[in-house]
Amino acid sequence: MLGRAVSAVHNGIQSELVHVEADVGPGFPRFSIVGLPDSAVNEARLRIRAAFHNCSLPFPKSRITVNLQPASLRKQGSGLDLAIAIAILRAEGMLVERQQAAFLAELGLDGSLVPAEATVGLALRLAEAGIQELYVAPGPPIPGPLASLMNIVAFPTLTQVVAQLANHRPACAIPSRTMDDKTSTQDATLPLDMLDSLPNRAFEKRLLAISAAGRHPLLFIGPPGVGKTTLSHRLIDLLPNLSEADALRSYAYHELVNPNAQFSLRPPLREPHHTLTPAGLTGSGSPPRPGEVTLADNGVLLLDECFEFSKATLNALREPLTSGVIHISRNGRTASLPARFLLVGTANPCPCGWRGYGECRCLEHDVRRYWSRCPGPLLDRIDLVHYMNRVPDGTNHLLGSRDPVAFELRQAVSQARVILESVDELDPIRQFQTRAVSMLTHLCDKLSATERVVVQTAKLARTIAALARRDEIRVEDVEEAFALRSSARR
Ligand SMILES: [Zn+2]
Repeated sequence: MLGRAVSAVHNGIQSELVHVEADVGPGFPRFSIVGLPDSAVNEARLRIRAAFHNCSLPFPKSRITVNLQPASLRKQGSGLDLAIAIAILRAEGMLVERQQAAFLAELGLDGSLVPAEATVGLALRLAEAGIQELYVAPGPPIPGPLASLMNIVAFPTLTQVVAQLANHRPACAIPSRTMDDKTSTQDATLPLDMLDSLPNRAFEKRLLAISAAGRHPLLFIGPPGVGKTTLSHRLIDLLPNLSEADALRSYAYHELVNPNAQFSLRPPLREPHHTLTPAGLTGSGSPPRPGEVTLADNGVLLLDECFEFSKATLNALREPLTSGVIHISRNGRTASLPARFLLVGTANPCPCGWRGYGECRCLEHDVRRYWSRCPGPLLDRIDLVHYMNRVPDGTNHLLGSRDPVAFELRQAVSQARVILESVDELDPIRQFQTRAVSMLTHLCDKLSATERVVVQTAKLARTIAALARRDEIRVEDVEEAFALRSSARR
């Protein structure tokens, strides 16, 4: 007889559905697994045989062939154990098939269930495929939003799973532990006082808001100790919460590199060390791991002292900065991964750090070489480059005398993002006032600006208008956008 069960495996960074077929037929007693199993999947034969014995379940005394579909996909890990065991029991006629149920757990020799690696990504893939019931081992809490997509039930032993399935009851009797809403959203009310505690930085806070609202890459330049790193760390505070779907996808990538990752609705902040390799940035390896740009998807990628990163690493940022995706090649195939991060960097103005701020001891040649570490095309893609004042002097260039309150800034950013999402990318100047378009054209002609600069400036102006809760882009928005761009390029 033939029995079937559904499970999933990691295919590098992505997750794939696996249909397990078990055939129990006449012949010399033998247990084979086909369909490109790796050694961990192959060893399931020994675990399953022992688990059946220790759970007093009858193990077939005939030939067992297990096929893992799709046969062309290499199956790695031990999370298929439970699905193979259930498929065998169904082939024996001990259990009936239940549509829309899937199994994801490793088996111990005593029949206990052990959590599979990085379950959330697999569960998401199964939910996409219409699976409504997922049997797992008791383990780390399940993120609340995932538990609302499908009924996830955790059982400690194979015996209990079999008893549950044999009873034909919907599997809601033993719910898995889910993270309570408080845990998953606790940091939705952020300690914004960190940003409020930085006095006389109204202009920089304005830049953070513009950057956060329009996803404009931002670079703070200044001497050591001026506070550029502290400010960069606060950019994440102004980003709105992720949607549940985005938070789950983000968590699925993080659990691949950190089994102890915490689920959160807050966007991720990645702050890699400057020894980061291009491969670490983009993701690679065998099996491939998500790189920093994917881990920072929908969040912030902070490069502190960014000129200390290798030129190759900085160059690798160009593609995701432009397109919001990263293409990585492995085994002759190319995978596309999301990489829509917000870049914030810090840098010293020169090797000693004091050029333009104090007594600089650097030679002209050294300064030029220092700046050449950052590839020109990357610098061109950074919309906001800001030289910080050495001492916050309370001079407010734009906003009057009061520092903006962080809470209000975050609200303005959220509202601006809603306005910006409705913008037609194909017609970027549709909402510009006629005079604003003339101003944009005039200033660009005067500065012989490239096409990229025109588009960047138009986008900045649009963000500035959106922060003021306007659809329409006015002359003053264009002027401020130009001021922000040109003041930086000195
Ligand atoms: Zn210097």
